[in-house]
Amino acid sequence: MGRTQQLYELQMADLEIDEKTEELARVEERLQEPEWLIEARERLGAQREKDQALRKRQRELEYTSEDLREKIAELDDKLYSGRVRNPKELSGFQQEADALKKQRSKVEDGLLELMLELEEVERECGTELAELDQLEQRWRGEHEQLEAERQRLKQDLARSEARRATLMERIPQSDYRLYTTLRKERAGKAVAKVERSMCAGCRISMSTVEIHRARTSPEPIRCGSCGRILYVT
Ligand SMILES: [Zn+2]
Repeated sequence: MGRTQQLYELQMADLEIDEKTEELARVEERLQEPEWLIEARERLGAQREKDQALRKRQRELEYTSEDLREKIAELDDKLYSGRVRNPKELSGFQQEADALKKQRSKVEDGLLELMLELEEVERECGTELAELDQLEQRWRGEHEQLEAERQRLKQDLARSEARRATLMERIPQSDYRLYTTLRKERAGKAVAKVERSMCAGCRISMSTVEIHRARTSPEPIRCGSCGRILYVT
């Protein structure tokens, strides 16, 4: 393999490495959990929090209601047991019992309302959970595909790196220095093939003499127009 061919092959390997590295970065970025999944999980979390808060309120109201029930029962006992005879005292108990009953009825109304709300929230929870399940399943499928792509790209990269290393063993340092400088200046392409008597890098026509020189010179010959190293096949 001639020196320019080696550089051309090196460029192929480097371009491949650049391309696969970019692709790999894109795939790895897409492997992060997507926004739509995070949002669905947050929606379910919010519904569950609402559910918890309502249940807590339910327990509090139930406790209050039970407490009132007991107090009312005590008063009823005093009222109807016959132990208390004083009419003034009895009327006081009666008033107290009435007030507590009214209070308890309000608490019970609140409980009923709350249970309806809870039912609604539980329905929402069910919907969100089903949706999340579906999205998670979709993500598992996508993730599996992306992971396979990632593996494939890593293998491709390893192959290109190995090829590059082999080529590097035989490339003279001065050639490599010129190559890296030109690659930086010429958007990754330091070597240009000569095709149909033209430099493939800048499309400038070349004379037969120039082509002959590029083919036979032991040193790399550069295009007079774009400066790239010319590779004549
Ligand atoms: Zn050129």
